Amino acid sequence: MKRVFNFSAGPAVLPLPVLERARDEMLDYRGSGMSVMEMSHRSKDYMAIIASAESLLREIMGIGDDYAVLFLQGGASLQFSMIPMNLITAPASQSADYVMTGSWSEKACSEAKKIFTDVRVAASSKSVNYSRIPTQQELTLNPDANYVHITSNNTIFGTEYPYLPDTGSVPLVVDASSNILSRPVDVSKHGIIYAGAQKNLGPSGVTVVIIRKDLMGRQANLPSMLDFQALAKEGSMLNTPPTYAIYILGLVLEWVKEQGGVTAMEQHNIRKANKLYAAIDNSAFYLCPTEPLSRSRMNVPFTLAKPELTDAFLAGAKAAGLVTLKGHRSVGGMRASLYNAMPEAGVDALIAFMQEFERTQG
Ligand SMILES: *Cc1c(COP(=O)(O)O)cnc(C)c1O
Repeated sequence: MKRVFNFSAGPAVLPLPVLERARDEMLDYRGSGMSVMEMSHRSKDYMAIIASAESLLREIMGIGDDYAVLFLQGGASLQFSMIPMNLITAPASQSADYVMTGSWSEKACSEAKKIFTDVRVAASSKSVNYSRIPTQQELTLNPDANYVHITSNNTIFGTEYPYLPDTGSVPLVVDASSNILSRPVDVSKHGIIYAGAQKNLGPSGVTVVIIRKDLMGRQANLPSMLDFQALAKEGSMLNTPPTYAIYILGLVLEWVKEQGGVTAMEQHNIRKANKLYAAIDNSAFYLCPTEPLSRSRMNVPFTLAKPELTDAFLAGAKAAGLVTLKGHRSVGGMRASLYNAMPEAGVDALIAFMQEFERTQG
């Protein structure tokens, strides 16, 4: 067996001990005589798996009892619609603020426009190809908005909020798909935090939604499967949940806890990101399109001063066991995703390859 260093933006690398544990438990989950995939979601064994995933997430993130934790399907993308559908209230106050920091913000905003008559752009960095995060001072917030939506980490453009926006009494809704659990956050300052699991939490197929309980049940007559209140009431089991994805998520959470939780994850992520940005900045051969104060610790885009060498770079990297480094088409070049599960050795190997490539091709 040969494992590569996988820099994919998502679905992404998982911690090796998690995969080994899943392998060991595959055919006979802890004496049940079956795999988790084959279990009834109402069985005692499975109820313990989902309860443990929820309680670990609550412990690791410090989620208070005034928040519900939901394990849903439809990806972060369904939340682009579910959130406006659930948070719209009386016709007189139908407005939502969106901060535009990349493609995912744009998608979230365009779905909200199908629900709200008045969606306002509180700030945007589109004019600079989303290379930076607007500052608090640049946010034009509507004090009567139903909520303010931000994308805490921009997976495609490689930027990340270096601060938590102050939205006053207006609930802050955060798409944290690509940086949840990468650093400590004060959950009590949020209305909703949501994340598709396949970047930093586990496999695709499950979406985590952490929602302040008073934000549920505002809208009557929603389809039940789209109604946070109805889903929460049944403990995310209004229908069959994505059982195996939640099981792996639980194993990832155990791993995060063993590593020292989100504080340790943050230190590990700062070290990895700092090294890679330094390698880029210390060379005229590599360029980083993002503004230093807005740079993401999770997704590091970079280009070559000689862009015609991009294919050779990617091919050489692949031969060296460094894969899925091709940048998104809207940025070009390369993108290295350094989620929690990317070991520091992967970053070291990438930097060594970059230096060798520059030495031979530069
Ligand atoms: C990947 C991603 C999404 C889309 O997630 P799906 O689960 O595929 O719907 C949304 N927002 C951000 C920030 C992402 O990185």
